[in-house]
Amino acid sequence: MRWTLPSQSLPSAWFNVMPHLSEPVAPPLHPGTREPIGPSDLTPLFPMALIGQEVSAEPWIDIPGEVLDVLRLWRPTPLIRAERLERALKTPARIYYKDESVSPAGSHKPNTAVPQAYYNKQEGVARLTTETGAGQWGSALSFAASLFDLECKVYMVRASYEQKPYRRIMMEVWGGSVVPSPVDEPDNPGSLGSAISDAVRDAAGREDSHYSLGSVLNHVLLHQTVIGLEAKEQLIAAGEELPDIVIGSCGGGSNLGGIALPFVPDAGVELLAVEPSSCPTLTEGRFDYDFGDVAGLTPLLSMYTLGHEFIPPPIHAGGLRYHGDSPIISSLVKTGRMQATAYPQGKVFDAAIQFARTEGTIPAPETSHAIRAVIDEALAAKERGEERVILFNYSGHGLLDLGAYNDYLTGQLDQV
Ligand SMILES: *Cc1c(COP(=O)(O)O)cnc(C)c1O
Repeated sequence: MRWTLPSQSLPSAWFNVMPHLSEPVAPPLHPGTREPIGPSDLTPLFPMALIGQEVSAEPWIDIPGEVLDVLRLWRPTPLIRAERLERALKTPARIYYKDESVSPAGSHKPNTAVPQAYYNKQEGVARLTTETGAGQWGSALSFAASLFDLECKVYMVRASYEQKPYRRIMMEVWGGSVVPSPVDEPDNPGSLGSAISDAVRDAAGREDSHYSLGSVLNHVLLHQTVIGLEAKEQLIAAGEELPDIVIGSCGGGSNLGGIALPFVPDAGVELLAVEPSSCPTLTEGRFDYDFGDVAGLTPLLSMYTLGHEFIPPPIHAGGLRYHGDSPIISSLVKTGRMQATAYPQGKVFDAAIQFARTEGTIPAPETSHAIRAVIDEALAAKERGEERVILFNYSGHGLLDLGAYNDYLTGQLDQV
């Protein structure tokens, strides 16, 4: 019920979906001129290697050996069949999940933090800045920065900084320095959009520093494709050909892109994004150019958006509280290659509890959005008497989200 791959089966190249998109992704625009940006607009923030990957049309991009050496600390990750969940649901569907919770930071995020730190180090950068919500991205980047001997400065959304100390402590264990954001407004609880503004301002103002983003951008999704590439091989080892449907939670789109993009050329495979009803970017947002941050400092991206000033309610799935979405994911949804659905928080935690009580592990609130959709797919397959093969991304564990589970168990969870 568990398929592992030998260390040498770690993919040696990332899968670039760009040549497989039916409509090319529209280029980012300069925030001032509204003209397409060029590489020189991005060099104050990103290394050339990542800028190149952002616009690359090459179908495969080699993973540097030093990056592979670090990824091998926890990759390839296992593919697991959720047989006990299947039995509890009495479904003929076969449910498989890719366990990305086994990384040092406990989520898929180090898959991109490591190459980002590596390319910055290669270019002689000494210091990285970034933002983090609940701390998952900040902890992944602090981990990666420590391995490549880079300084890491993390602007953490103030509400989380004050209420959720454990991931801040993780960041500090890995040598990161963490400050609450917005930096100049001590009474403001902050948001991801405002923390991005702080981190970009810092990096743009210092010669020795670059900025690093944990989701949304093309190169981030590219780095995450190791997930889907491994899963394809593992499904074959499990006696399956292709899945009927691939499901992932969607905040900025990186864990979903990671598992789903390698299946884009397989026309029969359905792809499904799952988001919170309270931050329904793909299901209720508009497709338009918008800023990535609150202050309007970032380039304008072509994506589904709720507006860059939208502040989502404080649901426990902090990683899904973002007003925009990856331009690649947005394009797939707009052209109908991918579907999207949204669930309220109460139903998401019902699914999380059912998963924990059958499969054992406690999922992150973000991951539990995918699990909700998986359970509903499996129940629909039962109705139709259909042997559906479902693959989903177990993007992270919930061991630092027990406060949310406590709210659920004591009837204090906001159901919407
Ligand atoms: C950050 C995070 C997400 C959401 O971000 P994406 O870029 O959409 O993947 C989902 N799950 C976990 C565990 C996360 O840490």
